[in-house]
Amino acid sequence: MRGSWRALSVLVFFLYIPGAEAYVRTMSPSGRPLYWPSPRVLLQVNPGNVDGISSAGLSSLFGIAANAWQLPDSTASIAYTINPGAPAASNPDSINSIYFSSQSGSPLDWGIVALTEVFYFVSSGQISESDTAFNDSQFIFTANPGSTGSSIGTRIAIYLPDVATHEAGHTLGLDHSTVNLSSMIYTAFSGQFSPSGDDTNAIRTIYPAGGSRSALTGYVEGTAGGIFGAQVSAINLATGKIEAATLANTDGSFRIGDIAPGSYAVMMEPFGVSTSTVSAYYANVDHHFCGINRFRRSFYAACNSGGAASVVEAVSGGSTSLGTLAPSCTQMGNPGGAPTSVAGAKSISPAGGTAFGTLLPGQTHYYKVHGVSGQLTARALSFSLFSPVDVQVQFLNADGSALAGASSVDNVGSPLPGGKINYDSSASANVPQGDYLIQVSAAASRVPASAYSAGYELLDADGHYLLALGVNGSFGPSSITDMQGCVSVPNSLQNASYDPSAGSGDNESVKTGCGSLNSSGGNPFSGGMMQVLLTALGVQILLRARRLRPALVRKRR
Ligand SMILES: [Zn+2]
Repeated sequence: MRGSWRALSVLVFFLYIPGAEAYVRTMSPSGRPLYWPSPRVLLQVNPGNVDGISSAGLSSLFGIAANAWQLPDSTASIAYTINPGAPAASNPDSINSIYFSSQSGSPLDWGIVALTEVFYFVSSGQISESDTAFNDSQFIFTANPGSTGSSIGTRIAIYLPDVATHEAGHTLGLDHSTVNLSSMIYTAFSGQFSPSGDDTNAIRTIYPAGGSRSALTGYVEGTAGGIFGAQVSAINLATGKIEAATLANTDGSFRIGDIAPGSYAVMMEPFGVSTSTVSAYYANVDHHFCGINRFRRSFYAACNSGGAASVVEAVSGGSTSLGTLAPSCTQMGNPGGAPTSVAGAKSISPAGGTAFGTLLPGQTHYYKVHGVSGQLTARALSFSLFSPVDVQVQFLNADGSALAGASSVDNVGSPLPGGKINYDSSASANVPQGDYLIQVSAAASRVPASAYSAGYELLDADGHYLLALGVNGSFGPSSITDMQGCVSVPNSLQNASYDPSAGSGDNESVKTGCGSLNSSGGNPFSGGMMQVLLTALGVQILLRARRLRPALVRKRR
């Protein structure tokens, strides 16, 4: 219990961050993931604020965050109650406080939108308390959906549930993510109040409520062994969405658990721009193996697959081992050549399958399917994978002419919550036995960086895409690929370790500041102006982190 605490170490890392990873759990410095042993968390909101939001308004707005994390297949639950007596301070006092910084004696640093501090037991990783401060001195929290990023006078507006949902994720033990449109991405954006599949997968994994789910496991390897912190994403081919992503452990091993059964492609990518956005456990992750560059995004695929990503089957209630995953230092490109003409179209099996390639704006690629019949579906993903091209996929007759009865959806599922556009595409057709073409074309203009939830930072320079063809609901046979022969990333520079002596007290806390805004969601700044602001924020916050990190130690008796 608390009476036995000897010391409380407060680790401070203000995270500002541009990057993009998967769902990430908050870790203790010694590598223990944090969680609530009883995940029904009551948060007490001190309603005092200078933004003019009433108690009733706060109750309603925080209720949106509570609903966001209320999942039918998880035991986790967050509830908010308005309590004018809730401490306007982050202290280990048995009260999970939510308060506005204007009401506390210690305002948040400039550029910090909100700060969640989680107290936990070092020996078990069990969370005992969570306190969150909202910076109403610098930002204006509103009840207007879509207002995040717009300016009101000299201040930047934020729809309160956008940040409240994100902070509630921290309360539950989630760290910052770099999956596009994840609520846990480190930048604030319009629509953040709606968790992504990656977010909900994280909560299901930490706080499961039964059900028959699936898992993918494997080992990400370079020439010097496992690659700590490599991000691995499972892309559900039937939905065209990243179902879940995770970071590799210190030895390169990973497990993506609690995903829906089905067919997946798997993507590897390096850790996002800065590790200062996530738990100190990851502080030594450095993926600049390839000269001064990080390794490149790539797919789990046979070494000489010619541009086909392996399709892996996640079986109900089971775990599928992928063996070795070998990332690359070279860009995806177009293995075997770019299929830029009908005559040069690449073949995809009539049983279904995948293809990947790289498009320039305005360019078109062609694929052909011989002797196929039935219901065809195709998805082309680029936006979801932080690629800058706006793709559209279509079925055509073998001669390149329009296919009667075929349909194509550009920007599938748009608008997303918060008004964002999803630039991915899907197509379908019901066809008699015959040969057909699949056309993947890129719009003449690149997708604006402001369309991505982390702005420029996670955006790839190359216009890669993943094409998945389903035939009567199947994406072809499962293909476990041994990539041992493709291992080429020279990761000998990586210090794949953490400090095992850290966290020697009985109890300590982790602070996670959320301090940058993306240039999205209807804000009136031009991209360039916003980028200046982001840079200024980064410099300010990173300098402070260096100065503060070793200095803050609290004692308690
Ligand atoms: Zn955050």
